[in-house]
Amino acid sequence: MDPGILMAIFIGLITATLVNYLADSLPVNRKLTKPVCKICKEPFYLFDYILFKPCKKCHQKRSLRHICSLIFLTIVSALIWIYPPNVGFWIGMVILAYLGLVIIIDMEHRIVMHPVSIAGALIGLAIGSWQHGVVMTLIGCFAGFALMFTLYHLGIWFVRLLSKRRPMGDVEEAIGFGDVIQSGVMGLFLGWPGILAGLIITIVLGGLVSIVILIIQVIRRKYQAYSAIPYAPFIALATLILLMLARPG
Ligand SMILES: [Zn+2]
Repeated sequence: MDPGILMAIFIGLITATLVNYLADSLPVNRKLTKPVCKICKEPFYLFDYILFKPCKKCHQKRSLRHICSLIFLTIVSALIWIYPPNVGFWIGMVILAYLGLVIIIDMEHRIVMHPVSIAGALIGLAIGSWQHGVVMTLIGCFAGFALMFTLYHLGIWFVRLLSKRRPMGDVEEAIGFGDVIQSGVMGLFLGWPGILAGLIITIVLGGLVSIVILIIQVIRRKYQAYSAIPYAPFIALATLILLMLARPG
């Protein structure tokens, strides 16, 4: 067996621990602090945290997300070692870590954090310029931002139209502004015209998940036509799919 795979798996484990730590710490404290237990807020010893031990005070086991991201990132890191994408293994791991963090934070807290977006913009600008040149990268960013911004305003208009027809409580935006920013970041990673493929995949993924949610609601007879879904995870997933499937040659 290629000993490199063992290294790739090890790097995957380190990346997953880092992503889990950032996802535990950033949205809650807005800064990097010691990892703490979600239930009793007792801080973890670094090695207890890395070795996946339960909380020493309340014995709360680690969350399902910790385990899922560990398994997922380890498998993907082994895969991109065996089938390296255009950007290569190491840059691929940086992209994987960043997009994984965006997906987890948005799914758990339904926010897109500005420091995370800024970090993503810097990583995207560097990788995009290397892959597609500075000009195409900036055009991609502008296109991603502008197209999602248009959809954002269409979404607001659509929700207002619906709320005029029938009264509803909190008017939710169909697309959040964080999604617009995230779409601009996706444009940096993918450049022009790659961003168009990225947006199409995002909309298809978002649409498919909406249909699944709708079917579940119909089965449970709790129908809500305008429950907004967060788009940032799909934007991140679309970027990941396109970058990881881009093969050299
Ligand atoms: Zn605890």
